[in-house]
Amino acid sequence: MISEKMKPLVQNNSAIREMFEEGKRLAAIYGRENVYDFSLGNPNVPAPAEVNQAIRDVLDEEESTFVHGYMSNSGYEDVRETIAGSLNRRFGTAFHQGNILMTVGAASGMNVILKTILNPGDQVIAFAPYFLEYGNYVRNYDGELVIVPPDTTDFQPDMAAFEARINKKTKAVIINTPNNPTGVVYSHETLCEIAGILEKKQAELGASIVLLSDEPYRELAYDGVEVPYVTNYYANTVVCYSYSKSLSLPGERIGYLVIPDELEDSQTVFAAATIANRVLGCVNAPSLMQRVVKRCVDAKTDVAAYDRNRNLLYSSLTEYGFSCVKPQGAFYLFVKSPEEDEKAFCGICKQHNILVVPGTSFACPGYVRISYCVSYEQIERSLPAFKAVAAHYGLI
Ligand code: PLP
Repeated sequence: MISEKMKPLVQNNSAIREMFEEGKRLAAIYGRENVYDFSLGNPNVPAPAEVNQAIRDVLDEEESTFVHGYMSNSGYEDVRETIAGSLNRRFGTAFHQGNILMTVGAASGMNVILKTILNPGDQVIAFAPYFLEYGNYVRNYDGELVIVPPDTTDFQPDMAAFEARINKKTKAVIINTPNNPTGVVYSHETLCEIAGILEKKQAELGASIVLLSDEPYRELAYDGVEVPYVTNYYANTVVCYSYSKSLSLPGERIGYLVIPDELEDSQTVFAAATIANRVLGCVNAPSLMQRVVKRCVDAKTDVAAYDRNRNLLYSSLTEYGFSCVKPQGAFYLFVKSPEEDEKAFCGICKQHNILVVPGTSFACPGYVRISYCVSYEQIERSLPAFKAVAAHYGLI
């Protein structure tokens, strides 16, 4: 009964489910606290107190039929104006509500913009390692994902390989900074280079290429590192933002797209994206959450908690002989597998009750992703197990 297009998705999903089931199986045998599950990107830091307060306040103070009602498919104007104002204060931009389209999280934002711009056969470039759902999102609209291979020395984009992949079929380029799974942040210089290449290629090909900046981890950056705002570098940029990680609200499904005035045909794109939001079945972003983010537009999650996790895990694993680029953002470590087949390495980790995700899941074999959005205590408890894995490989 199911479509040919769905079949590979179903097959892939069983691998994720298998890992989930494996975690449950190990927990039943060894006890939950003795299984070290580093596989998920589900924030363990609770949503800021003001978010929960805002939910109560919205329900107490705003009219029920309004809070739970339909609004414009692009979202409440006052919410969008507030978000635009906050971005302008922080990044020196000049957005207004007409640039902000409320979405059902980043996953939906990406789908909305890809549906808006892709024709069948159009190519979308992504830099490996990347969030594997990008391929599914692009294929939803019969586009083709083109992958720039990773530069594993520092996981910064390989500019020559990037430029070589741009051609007349290229419609968009996805970047994700701070990055899942590497934690790498693109610097001012890196963004200048990407913008320079895109501008050159646009002129050469006489076509527009959209830079799609997927930013669920924007607020999660450490050591004072700057996460530059991408619309300030390249006119044909669309930003895809989410509150899933920044306010620990992944289940609430709230985010937005920024479609700047500078984007070619900006108003038409905005109008089309609003329709895409509707016809994809989202209709509009969750109303209650829109009202809440208006009240919490400058609320912050406890980044220091993730930073503490990062430091403990990074310093311990490198001390045990594992090799890894120190992440500057997000909440993942991307660790080099001590043997070529990282799936075998994941198997050895599992023997020590450690669950990590193979790099193949990010189009980057030979590495594994360790999510440190877990409790500090879980990391502490897991260290002897990591040490035993290191000993297995003769690293210590
Ligand atoms: N993009 C990246 C890079 C992610 O890591 C995730 C979630 O983990 C998403 C998009 C989807 O986020 P959302 O919950 O906002 O749909």
